[in-house]
Amino acid sequence: MQAPLQQLEHPLLQQHNITLWVKREDLLHPHISGNKWRKLKYNLQEAQANGHKTILTFGGAYSNHIAATAAAGAEFGFKTIGIIRGEEHLPLNPTLQFATEQGMELHYISRELYRRKNEPDFIAELAEKYNQPYVVPEGGTNLLAVKGCTEIVEDIPIKYDVICCASGTGGTIAGIIAGLAGQKQVLGFPALKGGDLLEDEIEQLVYSYSGQHYQNWQLITDYHFGGYAKMKPELLQFIHDFKTNHSIPLEPVYTGKLFYGLFDLIAKGYFAEGTRIVAIHTGGLQGNAGFKERLGIEV
Ligand SMILES: *Cc1c(COP(=O)(O)O)cnc(C)c1O
Repeated sequence: MQAPLQQLEHPLLQQHNITLWVKREDLLHPHISGNKWRKLKYNLQEAQANGHKTILTFGGAYSNHIAATAAAGAEFGFKTIGIIRGEEHLPLNPTLQFATEQGMELHYISRELYRRKNEPDFIAELAEKYNQPYVVPEGGTNLLAVKGCTEIVEDIPIKYDVICCASGTGGTIAGIIAGLAGQKQVLGFPALKGGDLLEDEIEQLVYSYSGQHYQNWQLITDYHFGGYAKMKPELLQFIHDFKTNHSIPLEPVYTGKLFYGLFDLIAKGYFAEGTRIVAIHTGGLQGNAGFKERLGIEV
């Protein structure tokens, strides 16, 4: 399992004397990609240790976590159940088609019901209905996911000053913050609007996991491009250019926004000269097939 560090070259980096590496977590596994592998790892161990044969989890119709969980179930011998937000649309989109091919059983619930996904009563109902599976929350985020994500920082054998990552539920950045234990700086780039709420959730995850409050992190909330899975032509252009310049594919939901934002901050002189940055490529490239299918956009 390897997530190599790839150093980027770009006139902007030279101009501002910034060193930037991309940690290619997208290369960890062909289907259980990036942070979803980190987040599932200890959950799978826990499920196995407690004798669960089935894993149940939640997600939207294009969810990277649904795809990753389905693949992980197939690889490690669990039956998987995906509780999908919204109505069934046939033919299945590429994400759900893939999940089904990996053996995941899909169940669709209304958006209203889906909002109850974290309520203990609702989870108990589902557990009863589906024969007491191991339940993983939406996006895979729980304390075992945080534990898995602490290992991202153990796997960076170079000197650096700042880690940057994209944030959805905040599990990944919580693991990075806990793993660094107050060292260096961490910047999170939320893919959704409403960064303030996310900040509280991250703080809570870090504290529950480590019993510590850390100050060395911050959310950069200016690059959500209108919200989750919203995108603009300049974002798509950036992703296209990034692939041309660095041979690194991105996607428009998370990593595209991260790198767009990071390059914008660098251009604005946000970082002191000499700053060494590691940006985490959290994967998620499976979602690009869905954009192509839905919008005819080649990402
Ligand atoms: C799920 C995902 C994220 C968000 O991770 P959180 O732990 O939910 O913050 C970031 N990037 C990619 C590519 C993802 O699939």
